[in-house]
Amino acid sequence: MHELAVTKSILKLALDHTARNGGTQILKIHLVIGEMRNLEEDWIQRYFDYIAKGTPAQGAVINVAKTPVVFACKTCGRSFSTDLHVDQKLVCIHCGSFEYDLVTGRELIVEKIEVC
Ligand SMILES: [Zn+2]
Repeated sequence: MHELAVTKSILKLALDHTARNGGTQILKIHLVIGEMRNLEEDWIQRYFDYIAKGTPAQGAVINVAKTPVVFACKTCGRSFSTDLHVDQKLVCIHCGSFEYDLVTGRELIVEKIEVC
């Protein structure tokens, strides 16, 4: 359950942000999460509701935008994405190469915090 650790750091960041910039209540937290992180949005919200009790973030809504997993092939230079839920050898769909870099899919970004 790594969602709990992630949620704790999101809460801390949100509270620090609010303390620095003023604001009494955190309304909404926008996250960008890569598919590869394998984080369940529902669990983040559930944990958040629990650990944010009694803080200015109590009742805040977590909004998650997922970014797809995209690789760039080192052999042919083209990019491709893949369905990670399918258990298969990962090769470039264009040329079959095993040489590639992850471009997106590992993000974990707090994009925006709405306070009032
Ligand atoms: Zn390729």
